[in-house]
Amino acid sequence: MKIYSIHGGVEYKVLESDYHKYYVKCKEFGNGCTWLIRVSLCQRRGIWEVKRYNSLHTCLATSISIYRKILDYHAILAFTLPMIRADAAVSIKIMMPGSVPVFRTCPVQVGRQVNDSSAYFHRHFWTFPPCIETFRNYKPLVSVDGTHLYGKYDGTLLVAIAQGRNSNIIPIAFALVEGENAESWSFFLSHLQQHITPQPVLLVISDRHNGIKATLEASDGGWLLPNAYRTFCIRHVVANFALSFKDNDARMFLVNATYAKTEIEFHY
Ligand SMILES: [Zn+2]
Repeated sequence: MKIYSIHGGVEYKVLESDYHKYYVKCKEFGNGCTWLIRVSLCQRRGIWEVKRYNSLHTCLATSISIYRKILDYHAILAFTLPMIRADAAVSIKIMMPGSVPVFRTCPVQVGRQVNDSSAYFHRHFWTFPPCIETFRNYKPLVSVDGTHLYGKYDGTLLVAIAQGRNSNIIPIAFALVEGENAESWSFFLSHLQQHITPQPVLLVISDRHNGIKATLEASDGGWLLPNAYRTFCIRHVVANFALSFKDNDARMFLVNATYAKTEIEFHY
């Protein structure tokens, strides 16, 4: 029901749901829509039977907001688990058509012999079609940063965030890497560029990590002017500043100066 509703962009309300029956109607039922379905368990035959079904939504498909309400992990599991059960080696591309997974492994070495039957996880980059499509209409800027993983596995999650015209933000690309270094940032940023941000001009906002610097300044990376502009995230600059200068006022002056739109304002 969730997946059907997401596909149709429609919302439903559950009227009855227990071990014997399931009865739902369109949320707009009575407001011009007559979509409903009633299913009940046939004890004798041990199957669920559709007893009533008005199959046509005459309401206007509502909006993307239903994703937030119903696309929870139960819905994702219901959608993906049967595919994994059928074939444990099913690829992400089949489960999520249009998504971009880039998987890198390292060879396993036993003594001096490479064991071809297995491999170590190395790095993984991924993005989803909605991220790629959304970014086309977003401001030509990305904010990139990394964060340590604190769960069962160590490593670092690299993320790129984009911003819409109304300043909403969404994550558009992800990578799991061994840590922040020149190679891992190069891996992330080159795939970001290849799959998501082929804009002629792009602004990259980041901290001052040397790995990012090395990637963006490489002569063959495609990140040099006039293709890309680089700016530092003021949050990180202020955090670094605060390590040496404990003065709260000074910190505020720094932030205000960076937001100044005129030279006079900046000097003030
Ligand atoms: Zn409807």
